Amino acid sequence: MPRIGCKDAPWRRAVLQYGSAILAVAVALGVKLLLASTLRGEASYLFFLPAILIASALGGWGPGLLATLLGLGLGLFFIADVRSPLASDIINAVAFLLVGIGVSWRGAILNRFRRSAVSSAEEAHTRATHLQSILDSIPEAMIVIDERGSMQSFSATAERLFGYGASDVLGQNVKMLMPSPYRQEHDNYLNRYIRTGERRIIGIGRVVVGQRKDGSTFPMELAVGEMRVRDQRFFTGFIRDITERQETEARLQELQSELVHMSRLTAMGEMASALAHELNQPLSAIANYMKGSRRLLENRSDDGAKMLRDAMDKAAEQALRAGQIIRRLRDFVARGESERRVEDVKKLIEEASALALVGAKDKGVRVTFEFDPRGDFVLADKVQVQQVLLNLMRNAIEAMEDTDKRELVVSTMLRTNNLIEISVADTGAGIAPEISAQLFQPFVTTKRHGMGVGLSISRTIIEAHGGSIATRPYPGGGTVFSFTLPAVTKEEAGNAV
Ligand code: ADP
Repeated sequence: MPRIGCKDAPWRRAVLQYGSAILAVAVALGVKLLLASTLRGEASYLFFLPAILIASALGGWGPGLLATLLGLGLGLFFIADVRSPLASDIINAVAFLLVGIGVSWRGAILNRFRRSAVSSAEEAHTRATHLQSILDSIPEAMIVIDERGSMQSFSATAERLFGYGASDVLGQNVKMLMPSPYRQEHDNYLNRYIRTGERRIIGIGRVVVGQRKDGSTFPMELAVGEMRVRDQRFFTGFIRDITERQETEARLQELQSELVHMSRLTAMGEMASALAHELNQPLSAIANYMKGSRRLLENRSDDGAKMLRDAMDKAAEQALRAGQIIRRLRDFVARGESERRVEDVKKLIEEASALALVGAKDKGVRVTFEFDPRGDFVLADKVQVQQVLLNLMRNAIEAMEDTDKRELVVSTMLRTNNLIEISVADTGAGIAPEISAQLFQPFVTTKRHGMGVGLSISRTIIEAHGGSIATRPYPGGGTVFSFTLPAVTKEEAGNAV
């Protein structure tokens, strides 16, 4: 069947349409001739009706009418061949003409529909191609899911980012792009949003962790928009890999400004405390020497000796005062205001992990999470605890730089005494034996550019929360750092989160 598109030249189209009408009638004629001996003059017109329908459906009114007239002429010719036309033949001919006009009319309508369907399909195709080309060129990966989380669209950038081809993932649940346990919980998030309208990411955007086809994890910035098409709801996620982007520093600073501020303050506290500790001994020695010297001068009663005694008393006083000043500074910084709230431990960990993974792409680190379902909430200063996590994870990633296996496991465990233990385990080289005894002391480091204050700050923060921090070897090589925080039950958390 010739394809009669609206883009053909008009004369060409007309030739094709009228040609199709003639061809259709010719075919009908052929069939009629084949059966002529059986039918004789009967049902002469019947064969031409399908031809009229085809001609008008393809070409509209004109070809339909042409087929009708041709059919009529040929029908009369066959009758005349058998007998001289009777009155009934004339009635049949008129009836055929009317039916032919009717069929042509329907066919013309059909033709109009067909043409408008072809043109809207072409228009839709052009629009879809245009949209696709826009989506392919935006730097963000785009994924569209339906209400059940099933992926409906997966852009070319998403293919590059996650390592899956669109055909592998379309129709599958989007949770396959998340590490455990966020993977298991995604359905609940979606269901809860649909039930209650409570927004966690939709319309807000967050830094979260994604998982590629090869299992490796990476930090990503996710913005989700919602759309409704008739009564169906869809969610479009725009994803940006923030592992390695140019503005990493700027973004990090923005996200970490609070952390940086806190860490400076705590570092100052740590330094003050270390200084106090270090200076205490020389200052007490100075005070003692002063007292000794004063005693030696006690037996002398000349004016000079009296003045010397006074000066020494004052010097000893000042030495003690210097010690007090440093101690006071330390207390002041250590008291630094902390704001403790009920925090969702999983969310807290996810954000900190995403930050820790920034810049870790080349290191090929894979993070897995194991959360104890019995403990979801802690009472903590989020910024401070994230700072501890960030320290521990960065240390862990650095410790795995020279090992082949680079796995970071962040887990939680509800302990007795109403404490939640958070652990960061790595498959790195383990703690250097020469520093293991003073690990949490300030200024202890094995790194060329290390300050050695991270762990001591972490300990200060955790102890201020009423918890403790410790380390142990990780079976199979590597280190586990774990710390505890006060747990809050779901009931206690109530509406606090
Ligand atoms: P810094 O990272 O500046 O050295 P920290 O106080 O955070 O300061 O760490 C002190 C030292 O503890 C590090 O230099 C390193 O030798 C050791 N360390 C910390 N975490 C790990 C770990 N996960 N694996 C092996 N060694 C570690």
